[in-house]
Formats: sequence, C-alpha cells, structure tokens
Amino acid sequence: MLRKTKIICSLGPATDKAEEIRNLIEAGANIFRLNMSHARHDWTREVVSTIRAESGGLGIEVALLVDMQGPAIRTGTLDKPLQLRAGDRVEFTIGDARPKEKFSTSVNYSGLAADVSIGDTMLVDNGVLHLKIVSTDSKRVIGETQTGGELGSRRHINLPGVRVNLPAFSDKDREDLDLALDLDVDFVAMSFVRDADHVEELRELLRKKKAHARIVAKIEDQEAVRNLDEIVRATDVVMVARGDLGIEVNLEELPILQRLIVKRCLALGRRVIVATHLLESMIANPIPTRAEVTDVANAVFEEADALMLSGETSIGQYPVKSVRTLDVIARRIERSGGAGYAERARLETAKQKSVRSAVSLANSIDGSKILVFTSRGVMANYVAHLRPRKAPIFSFSPDERVCRALLINRAVVPFHLEFAEQPEDTVAAAIALLAEREFLVKGDPVVILSDVFAGDHDVDTILLQKA
Ligand code: PEP
Repeated sequence: MLRKTKIICSLGPATDKAEEIRNLIEAGANIFRLNMSHARHDWTREVVSTIRAESGGLGIEVALLVDMQGPAIRTGTLDKPLQLRAGDRVEFTIGDARPKEKFSTSVNYSGLAADVSIGDTMLVDNGVLHLKIVSTDSKRVIGETQTGGELGSRRHINLPGVRVNLPAFSDKDREDLDLALDLDVDFVAMSFVRDADHVEELRELLRKKKAHARIVAKIEDQEAVRNLDEIVRATDVVMVARGDLGIEVNLEELPILQRLIVKRCLALGRRVIVATHLLESMIANPIPTRAEVTDVANAVFEEADALMLSGETSIGQYPVKSVRTLDVIARRIERSGGAGYAERARLETAKQKSVRSAVSLANSIDGSKILVFTSRGVMANYVAHLRPRKAPIFSFSPDERVCRALLINRAVVPFHLEFAEQPEDTVAAAIALLAEREFLVKGDPVVILSDVFAGDHDVDTILLQKA
C-alpha cells in the first residue's frame, strides 16, 4: 500500500550530512524544508547539493522548500539574559533611543509603537514571556510582565490581534528568495502572509525572475485567518503554521482553525500542509506521546496533503524514527477512511467536472488506479484535490519540475515521462513503467485522464481500460 499523506522534513544540524539525508529519504521523506530563520546561505547551498546527490543515488525524487522568515519582529542583542518576574516593566527601545528602564532591550521594528495600543498583549519567545503594553511613545514601548521568565537575545515577538504594518518582505527575505531561485527550489514559503496582495507581490517577483517555484502561504496570525479565502485563492499551497498561529489566537481556537483552513483549501482546490509540534516530544524521545499520535491521526483523517516536521528532524535525536512514526500512523489512518471534505469542492470548469467523473469512476471500481498525463500539473492537481477514496494517482509529465511540484499532493506518485507522438504509445510506456515498479499487474483496471492527447486542442480524455 502506498502512503497518501506526504512528509516534509525540516533539515538542520541533526540532519545535514549525506547519510542522514539518505536515511530520511529511505524512511519516506518527500520534501525537505530549509528554514531561512536559521539557515546560512553557504550551508543551504551545500545541503541542497547533498540532497540532490543522495536523491539521485537512490533514484527517489524529493522536492525542496525554502521557508522565508518573513516580517519577524525581534528583540535586540543583550549582554546577558534578563530575568523577569511578574510585575516587572520591560522597555523595548526603537532606533537609537537610550534605555530608561532597569529592564531594557531594543526591537528591530521602528513602527512598533505606532502599531500597538495600551492594553495589547505582547508574547515573546514563543509565548514563554507574556507582557501587557502599559505605555508607548515614539521611541519606546513598555510592557508589564504578566508571567515571569527569561528574556534572551533576538527573541521573536508576537502581537496577537494587532495589525502589524511591516512590509511583506524584509531585505533578508529578498536575499533568501534570490538564493532559493538560484538553487531552483520547488516551493518558496512566505511567513506571516496577511492578505492576498502579499502573495501577489511574491507571484510578481517570481514572474519577473521567470521562476517556477510554487508559493506556500503560511497562515500564522488572526489577520491571515480573516483574509483566508482570498489568500487560499491567490496561493498554490497553504501551510497551517500552528507554531505561530497557536500563539496569535486563543489556543482553544487552533483545532477549529486547522479544520477550517483544511476545508477551505479542499473547497477551493489548493494543497494544504499541517505543520509544527506533530511529534514534538520525539525531539528527545524515541516514541511519541499518545496525544501526538492522535494529533497526527487527526490531520491525516482531515486529508491534508502533507505533514511537516520541524525540530523533530532538524535538531532532534530521532529524525528517522520521527519520519517512520508519521509513515505508520498515516498508512493506518488512511486505511480507516477520511473526513471527505473534498465532496464539497467547488467545481467551476468543465475540466474539473470531467475530473470528478473520472474520480467517481475510480471510486466505483475495486482495485482501480488512476493514471493522469499532465504537462503543467493542473489536471493532476484536480484529481488529487477530489481525494479519490482508494485509488492511487500516478501522474506522468515530461517536465521534471512539474513532477517534483506534484510530490506535495496527497496520493500522487509522479513519474517523469517523455510523451510519444501517439497517445497509445505514451499510455503503454506508463503502464510498463508501473508494472516494472510493481505498482500494478496486468489486467488491473486503470482510469486514464489527460488533457494533452489532442495536440493543440484543449480536449479532456477519460478512458477506462485494463492494464
Ligand atoms: C510555525 O509557526 O508553525 C511555522 C512553521 O513557522 P516557523 O517555524 O517559521 O516559525
């Protein structure tokens, strides 16, 4: 049985060597994520070349995702961490303002005082420190510590519910994007997307640079949730970035938002990743908690396209075991059925409606397989979005970039194949390839879909035949 849910592994110091990357690919990683909040450019170049060498050596294709840090607000560098107790006032100075309070650090965002109001909540270092804003002027923001803790250097600040007026891209993001495109990666992720214009800005940059990378919009604050539908329509892929989202909204809202985002992606036909803390305890332990197993099972049941590991594979002690754990849970839950949200997918075009017929056909025939011939990946995306109940989706494209982009789609197994002059020859070559890899045997029912067999005419073909 093929696993339908795709696995994304963030790489880091625990997994940047050839052997570890090879082990992750063999364990079932489909996509590697390079997180530019931590990765240096020389490191990224080296790791990408190692991934390509290992993937080539094993003959297993993997895709690359560069995750840009986005408009992150961070505290400044301190000589030593501040030890804060409830009630302590902490000052965040802007620009060249001189410290006035006992506890003081700078902040990298000059618009902070203009964006926040007295009474707003400020969460620092993933919510470890909780402050209430008690005073602001053009040079400083002062917060009162609500729960004590340590404030170190360059800690991330979240401002739940505050409309932050930072531009979509920082200078660092632009440099990181140039690197990503130079490395010809398959996906670029945008952090803290707040509306569709932010996605369009990236789309325009990619267009100008004639880049092929697909856009991943990370939903991680309340404003993105408010603008969810327009963001989903504008992007190629959505990430439920639960790390930040779980800080920016009340925690009890998180499961509801996860489900809402997955449902909207399935309704509007976009790919969706569920990310962060899936197997967090496996950073230090060889087995997950029971609650983590249930969380992973829930995301698989919701029929997300992909699940993403962060610390588990980048800094954890058990990266390969983490991938194997996702793999076994996903396979088991996929056998038990899914939520079926795709049944409410909006089908607007004739092409989408033909794909629906093909998927219904495959659902009604036991043991059937779907073969989709696709030049740009569009038809394969449609098939995957309709979440065929059992049939695996084998996609064939002459474009290797299209094949790698399809690695993120639930249930799609992409193959690189040059199309022959005659459609029958292309189908025969695809069936031979699948038989050779033992994905099907002679006589299996196959549902064939294509929009590329009619030359210049945009004609969709659906065929049912025996392999
Ligand atoms: C997240 O917040 O869940 C996330 C994936 O983003 P990052 O790891 O870049 O903070």
